[in-house]
Amino acid sequence: MNRLHDRTALVTGGASGIGRAIALRFAAEGAAVLVTDIQEAEGQKVADEIAEKGGRAIFMRHDVTDESAWTAAVERAVSEFGGLDVLVNNAGIGDLGTIEDTTLDQYERTVSVDQTGVFLGTRAAAEHLKASGHGSVINISSIFGTSGGMGTSPAYHAAKGAVRTLTKNVALAWARAGVRVNSIHPGFIDTPILDAARGTEFETAMVDLTPMGRLGRPEEVAAAAAYLAGDDASFVTGAELYVDGGYLA
Ligand code: NAD
Repeated sequence: MNRLHDRTALVTGGASGIGRAIALRFAAEGAAVLVTDIQEAEGQKVADEIAEKGGRAIFMRHDVTDESAWTAAVERAVSEFGGLDVLVNNAGIGDLGTIEDTTLDQYERTVSVDQTGVFLGTRAAAEHLKASGHGSVINISSIFGTSGGMGTSPAYHAAKGAVRTLTKNVALAWARAGVRVNSIHPGFIDTPILDAARGTEFETAMVDLTPMGRLGRPEEVAAAAAYLAGDDASFVTGAELYVDGGYLA
């Protein structure tokens, strides 16, 4: 399929896991992709992999918590590709532990990347998304943006819940401007973000709690993003799409 052949996209956190899979899928669908991340070597590899397959991609180092870096990233996409149609706010970090042992620094760091980064990115891209005529913002929230999970990772839950309602708020604000804004809520997806849980009882629990009885693959989230990015989802805005093997069913 070549559903995104006339689209340009900016994917944050594109060096790894879900972001990498989204960048590869978008490029395979014909989009020109600006891959951004704080991991430079890995991010460059993703852009190189896309180019080797005949796709269009460049990598740029970009910290989503940095307001001025957002201006530079959006300008880079526009100068390289002539505009910006799709923004994927994917970069994220996890936090472990309970409410009692979470320090203020840890809490604020998680909120800064997972929540404030989405605000900064969406605001920075506003003008170009509106000019696009088919702008689409895809925010990667989580099943933990809707449910209380296992009673751990309070900052992550708070941030991902905020992303869910920020998505709906901007969807309404921009509906008449022709920019669609949706969130994807992955369940347990097999990426490096789960590394801290490997070999612990949490790893088994993730599979046990998933009705389909397995972890998801990053490519399965990327397929949902490709749908939301393009015209197949032309009347879909303010929606939350669960890619969770039935976790929240
Ligand atoms: P990952 O660790 O493989 O990828 C996250 C990427 O974000 C990394 O490349 C990392 O370098 C980048 N990143 C971190 N801080 C950044 C910053 N300040 N600026 C720019 N980039 C930064 O993890 P993943 O599973 O692919 O996670 C992608 C998104 O999916 C995250 O928002 C995560 O919360 C969400 N998510 C993941 C799962 C899961 O089970 N894997 C479930 C639900 C939601």
